[in-house]
Amino acid sequence: MDIKKLIGGAVLGATTLVAGAVSAEEVNVYSLRQAFLVEPLFEKFTEQTGVKVNVIFAEKGLVERIKQEGANSPADILMTVDISRIQQAVDAGVTQSVSNDVIAANVPAHLRDPDGHWFALTQRGRAIYASKDRVAEGEITSYEDLADPKWKGRICTRSGAHVYNVALFASMVSVHGEEKAKDWLEGLKGNLARKPQGNDRAQVKAIKEGVCDLSIGNTYYYGKMIANEEQRAWADAVNLVFPNQNDRGMSMNISGMSLIKGAPNQGNAIKLMEFLTDDVAQKIYAEVNYEYPVKPGAEWAENVKSWGTFKADDLSLAEIARLSPDAIKMVDQVGYNE
Ligand code: FE
Repeated sequence: MDIKKLIGGAVLGATTLVAGAVSAEEVNVYSLRQAFLVEPLFEKFTEQTGVKVNVIFAEKGLVERIKQEGANSPADILMTVDISRIQQAVDAGVTQSVSNDVIAANVPAHLRDPDGHWFALTQRGRAIYASKDRVAEGEITSYEDLADPKWKGRICTRSGAHVYNVALFASMVSVHGEEKAKDWLEGLKGNLARKPQGNDRAQVKAIKEGVCDLSIGNTYYYGKMIANEEQRAWADAVNLVFPNQNDRGMSMNISGMSLIKGAPNQGNAIKLMEFLTDDVAQKIYAEVNYEYPVKPGAEWAENVKSWGTFKADDLSLAEIARLSPDAIKMVDQVGYNE
């Protein structure tokens, strides 16, 4: 294959790509995840197998790029984050089905596509962040509680249309049905301290500043804030609450991978996919972003362990993808962002 094809692109940020160094055994990854997250994995893989990994990093536009490249695309694997974005790639028709016993044994059924077009690699929970000063321990225990009028004017969230919230709202549709989920979302909206704005961490900062007492945020941001000198005080101001521990468990989302249709290095791509779902890679990948492995029994990172264990909702991510359009409609209907 022609390596120059990989080097020609505008979105190229490929530190692992070396012009002219075409090796017989290689695999090409298009990654919507940042370099620091995936590079340690690929180094290990090359060390073990001798297969070189060429990576193209971009924040967006990779699915469009694969479409444009068409049959000439060098892409073998797409790595991305959030079920909505993974599903977008499948819906765009750039992926192909993989049927593989190793991957199927490593990734639980609810964390992979029943048709084999995507597989989860890491998981994160959608947790509740609660003010240490103003919310007693045990005072909030579930997503359902967020609609209780006692929290009026006390909750901050990012946009309801953001994929992280859409996935959570889709899980509420799955559990309660459209009508009740909409009532719940209306209740939550009625409790907001301010118009939805900012990212997950900005809500925790707002708790620290006394703007609100509760927020919704992904679990790994807790680790990222603690590791950040400026943001550590935000994390110190809150308790990380794992919701719905007495029933279905915390709502989970994923990062994942897909095999690209017409992948030129299909054998090596499958080899890499197997590697990424196995213990060594699972530990490294989860660790660098304070996430949770998907493979049962794979070891959690020390700091993540220190936040405690929890029950995870095992609702299938395919179901969340299926219900996401309903959730987006619901966000509009209740005027969540207005
Ligand atoms: Fe994030």
